[in-house]
Order: sequence, then C-alpha cells, then structure tokens
Amino acid sequence: MVPGKEKKLIIVSAPSGAGKTTIVRHLLSCNLGLAFSVSATTRAIRPGEVDGKDYFFISEEEFRNRIEKGDLLEWEEVYKGTFYGTLRSEVERNMMNGFHVIVDVDVVGGLNIKKEFGEKAFSVFVSPPSVSDLEIRLNNRKTDSEDTIRKRMEKARWEMEFACKFDFLLLNDDLERAKSEVLEKVKEFLNK
Ligand code: ADP
Ligand code: 5GP
Repeated sequence: MVPGKEKKLIIVSAPSGAGKTTIVRHLLSCNLGLAFSVSATTRAIRPGEVDGKDYFFISEEEFRNRIEKGDLLEWEEVYKGTFYGTLRSEVERNMMNGFHVIVDVDVVGGLNIKKEFGEKAFSVFVSPPSVSDLEIRLNNRKTDSEDTIRKRMEKARWEMEFACKFDFLLLNDDLERAKSEVLEKVKEFLNK
C-alpha cells in the first residue's frame, strides 16, 4: 500500500470575508487528523501573518518559475496582479505524513481541485447571509484597504453564482451553528 493513498481532501471556498479562515481554523482544532495546505502567494504579508504558516510569500518571478516547474496543483490570479496557488508538495507531504488535507482556496481553485480529486475530496462553499454582510465583515476585519475591499466585493457577486457546484453549501450566519454543522459534515465524509 502506498502510504497516504487513502487520505482525503477538504476544500473550503467562498468569497473573501465569508468566513473561510474562521471555519478552517475551527476544523483544524477539532482533532480530525487534518493538516492545512499552505499556499503560495504574491500578495504582501499582513501584520500578524507568518511566512510558511499562513502562506509562502514569494515574488511574481518565483511564482512563475513554480508554475513552469509544475509545482502547483492549481493556481489563480485571484485579484488582478495577485497570484495564489496550491503547492503539490504541501498536499503530498501532509498526506504522506498521515494527515487528511484541508485547503482554503478561491471558488475557481476549489472547483478545479475537486475535479482532480473527485470522490477523495469534499468541497464546501461558505456563504455569507448576504453580499452586504461581506462588506461589513471585511471592514470590521481591518486587514484590507478600501480599494482592496472594493475589488473583493466586485468579485464576490460573481463567485456567489458558483455555490451550487460545491458538495456542501454552508450558510455562515450564526458562527457557532455554522461551525457545528460543518464539523458534522466533514466527520461524516472522513469516516465514509
Ligand atoms: P475569509 O477567510 O473568508 O476572508 P474570515 O474568516 O477572515 O473570512 O472572516 C472575515 C471576518 O468576519 C473576520 O473578522 C471574522 O471574525 C468575521 N466572521 C466570520 N464568521 C462570522 C459570522 N458568522 N458572523 C460575524 N462575523 C463573522
Ligand atoms: P487572502 O488574501 O484573503 O488570504 O485570500 C484571498 C483569496 O485567495 C481567498 O479567496 C483565498 O481562499 C484564496 N486563496 C488562498 N490560497 C489559494 C490557493 O492556493 N489557490 C487559489 N486558487 N486561491 C487561494
């Protein structure tokens, strides 16, 4: 048996501000044998973020080299001029170490990974109660400039249309309810 062969993938996608990071952190804290796949990005590091833990923060030149070498399972220019990608090495290393893997990726990236992993992956779309709630959450989070928030809101309206293509639609209105609902669904998938 190839070690790690039976390991599964949890994909969490949503428009920015819907609560992906919060949901992913919760699932990671629940002793499900999950490990986070750290993505590569060309965006600037935010206060409080740690290189190699939140993302691998790399230059656009390095990102393009990684694409050419085939190091990325998927990648997207999620916002104009800002690239994000899932590193094959992260997913494989975690699976070889005996973990199921959880990825936090944009909506298109999530659908692409699901296509590749099929039944081995469970894709979750985290939905905000409304698009205007997203704006409020992004403003409250205080990590993005007004211009960034505007770009994210424009994209969010389009991303919401993909919700029905995911295995599970999680409405993140009341956070505690959403956390327990997603936990049950993920447990069910991992135990299948
Ligand atoms: P994402 O990773 O999708 O961009 P975050 O997890 O960073 O989103 O959440 C965006 C902001 O909204 C954070 O400040 C977070 O604490 C807050 N938040 C998350 N879920 C809820 C919720 N159900 N109700 C209110 N605020 C929430
Ligand atoms: P943020 O800059 O807020 O951390 O993330 C912005 C968006 O990029 C989020 O929707 C996040 O899920 C997405 N993202 C993060 N990593 C990846 C990745 O590896 N691939 C893709 N396609 N999107 C990613």
